[in-house]
Amino acid sequence: MQAELIFTGTELLLGHILNTHAQYLGLALANIGIEVALNTTVGDNRQEMIEVLQQALARSSDLIIITGGLGPTTDDITIEVVAEALGLPLVLDQASLKTIKKRYQDRGVKMPESNAKQAYFPRGAQILANGVGTAPGAILEYNNKALIILPGPPRELTPMFEGGAMAYLAQKIAGGEAIRYKIFKLTGISESAVQDLLKDIGGQGNPGIAYLAKPGEIQVRVSARGATVDQAEKLLAGFAEKVRTRVDRYIFACDDTILEELIGKLLVKNGLTIGVAESCTGGLIAAGLTEIPGSSDYFKGGIVSYSNEMKNQLLGVGAEILDSRGAVSRETAEAMAVGVRTRTGADLGLSVTGIAGPGGATETKPRGLVYMALAAGGAIICQEHHFSGVRGAVRQGSVKAALNMVRQYLLEYETSGGQH
Ligand code: ATP
Repeated sequence: MQAELIFTGTELLLGHILNTHAQYLGLALANIGIEVALNTTVGDNRQEMIEVLQQALARSSDLIIITGGLGPTTDDITIEVVAEALGLPLVLDQASLKTIKKRYQDRGVKMPESNAKQAYFPRGAQILANGVGTAPGAILEYNNKALIILPGPPRELTPMFEGGAMAYLAQKIAGGEAIRYKIFKLTGISESAVQDLLKDIGGQGNPGIAYLAKPGEIQVRVSARGATVDQAEKLLAGFAEKVRTRVDRYIFACDDTILEELIGKLLVKNGLTIGVAESCTGGLIAAGLTEIPGSSDYFKGGIVSYSNEMKNQLLGVGAEILDSRGAVSRETAEAMAVGVRTRTGADLGLSVTGIAGPGGATETKPRGLVYMALAAGGAIICQEHHFSGVRGAVRQGSVKAALNMVRQYLLEYETSGGQH
């Protein structure tokens, strides 16, 4: 199986945005055994887009994926270009028009006329629903090739690809084979440590394992193929269970759940609240926790105490601790956690203090050194972490590790029957 990917958008050529679709689709297709043979990026220019598409159609790839340009504005011309390149008329899909209108109605707004164009597709297209935005995608079969059209925004493209497009590819492109997969999201462990835990488990063929590392998170994707869905599911279930057993204590989700959401659920379930004190993460933990709807039920508040004065004045970290141990120390992290718990009146006080870099390191305190503490009940748990990478990676890694510390605490709290 071979694929060609066409990314449309002048902003990609100008370097205004990074082509993350190339990475995402490359990985996702490789995971299901489809090799990407060629990537092309083309600006929002009708003639150039038609040429690029016609060249792709003339080559031997079985699958062409084209992304972007499905918006309502005049420079969004992908659908028209595809229709022209394939010599197909555009036809209105009533169901899509209804869905787009409803999306606006639900917000109490009338659909702008320009959005109606998003309901037109080349004749014979299978529509791919867009659960996030207004523009549906489409699948077309043409001369034994499949052409998949996906929207530009990643938050729209990803679910559409993993939903409708993947199901189509599994059945049609993979020679009628069924493919099933499961994703384990891990945190609190490095990629190489995950590899070590799973190195003798197999996974190079069918079933297969693929890894995706993000700051503070490793995704392990387990897949299996079979002649039927049943066969693929059976093979997957056995293998996924083996993988799960080995990495169980690091798994925080097997679906779209994010760590912040999971913590929210655990806090609600146990009737607990949390407050956070952040130094090197600058409010990222508070921002992540409050992104979850309903977080006011358990999030009491956050204090970004960047300077020593603020750590002292807002959180009550003793001047003697700051002087003798420094802002990045176990003692400061613990005092911050206790301080924020007292000041917010929360059940749990979480703190993070560290050196995100590039400056600030000393001989004894390297860049990437981060202390995090959790004050809960009568106890204080403190962890020392050493993150590698640039400032952003250290900060993101710290967020995930701190949230993971809360997750582990809450799981233990649950199993101990609500004992701090
Ligand atoms: P819209 O309705 O928002 O116009 P669209 O389907 O027309 O969506 P584009 O206009 O091509 O898509 O792109 C919209 C946005 O999606 C871009 O500004 C960019 O932020 C993001 N985007 C598009 N293509 C890519 C890509 N290859 N990689 C990463 N982001 C992309």
